[in-house]
Amino acid sequence: MRRMFHRLMQFSQKHRAGAATLEFTIVLPLFFLLCLVIWQLIVVGMAIMDTQAALRDAVKLAATTGDTKKAIEQGKSSFGTSNQYELTSLKVEIKDNKVHASAKTKIPVLFTSALPYTYENTAEAPVVQNDQGAFLARGIEGPLLSSGGILGPPLRNMRITSKFGYRIDPVYGGGAFHGGLDFKAPAGTPIYAAESGTVIRSGPAGGYGNVIVIDHGNGLLTLYAHMYSHGIFVRAGDTVKRGDPIGAVGSAGKSTGPHLHFEVHVGTYGNRVNPLPYLQGATVASR
Ligand SMILES: [Zn+2]
Repeated sequence: MRRMFHRLMQFSQKHRAGAATLEFTIVLPLFFLLCLVIWQLIVVGMAIMDTQAALRDAVKLAATTGDTKKAIEQGKSSFGTSNQYELTSLKVEIKDNKVHASAKTKIPVLFTSALPYTYENTAEAPVVQNDQGAFLARGIEGPLLSSGGILGPPLRNMRITSKFGYRIDPVYGGGAFHGGLDFKAPAGTPIYAAESGTVIRSGPAGGYGNVIVIDHGNGLLTLYAHMYSHGIFVRAGDTVKRGDPIGAVGSAGKSTGPHLHFEVHVGTYGNRVNPLPYLQGATVASR
């Protein structure tokens, strides 16, 4: 490559005639073309990311509320507005307890809308319902949806060591209902408010050790447990913003080691639902 360039330069020196040198006739147009290609790649990348955001948020909303119309609106607003590319279709349907969404995005090639490239993608998720088949988050709007239907991460690194649902009790044995998710983390790891709201409870709570409960309005609450008493940074009545540090991971109460027990309550305090559909980026720890 370098040798070829060297030869080109020699050629250029030999055949230099007036202003029409190699630099202007070949190198500059090549550079310009390279810039165009890079710009094109950036536009394609952004279009793909926006399409995926639209799909993800539409599916999440449809899975928790069953409202496909609102899900499409949410998806479109998550896609945002760009004058480079356009979301030409977004379809959301619920079939056999599954949400299926598909999106098409038209991306112009080298600024000419005459030659568009269409990016297509689909997403699927199980519908989140309670025993009676009612959608758990019906009517939940406001703070939950202001951030695309997704809560902020309560821990920077969400490694799930125990899922929501029936399980073998780790302390007493036997079957027990686990009303939240457990995230293993070293003692002292910061815990963040999953969404803005008002702290309604902060302090000792039996097997939970200590708890913090935040009311996010519109019937959405989150609960954080097992902090030590010195690992609680907020008091009842405090208002917190999404992402504010509210405490530190501990192992107080009925606990086998430092972890955060995290719950999502919907509709009313005590109606615990699986927090997983409200989170993004949580992984199941291999232990
Ligand atoms: Zn737990």
